[in-house]
Amino acid sequence: MGDPLRSCSHEIVGQVTSIGHNVTKFRVGDIAGVGCIIGSCGPCDNCKQDLENYCPKMLWTFNGHHEDGTRAFAPLKYFGLSKLDRHLGVAEFGGVGHMAVKFAKAFGAKVTVISSSPSKKKEAVERLGADSFLVSHN
Ligand SMILES: [Zn+2]
Repeated sequence: MGDPLRSCSHEIVGQVTSIGHNVTKFRVGDIAGVGCIIGSCGPCDNCKQDLENYCPKMLWTFNGHHEDGTRAFAPLKYFGLSKLDRHLGVAEFGGVGHMAVKFAKAFGAKVTVISSSPSKKKEAVERLGADSFLVSHN
């Protein structure tokens, strides 16, 4: 997948720039997304029942460990959030969104929370330390 068009703390959306010879569901130029799980073992009982999220060898998209010891995608580092003067927008201010705010603030980034619910401003700014808050429908 090429440069992401959109990213939040639990998914990445981008444009397909190349495909493998066995790929049938995507073509170059398609918009595609990656969820929070990118791998599982396949032959275990959970995998055979399409319950890959219970596979003991499930691989998380974010910071998961491949069998060779390498780590999976770490979006906050990938997008350079640890560098100075970065500003992150966090949409979908729920459980994962809360974590995104905490990690981004720990990296020293400026954080804006974007939510459809004005009632979440106090929690975002006062409790988690977001720098600003936007109401998405306003
Ligand atoms: Zn499995």
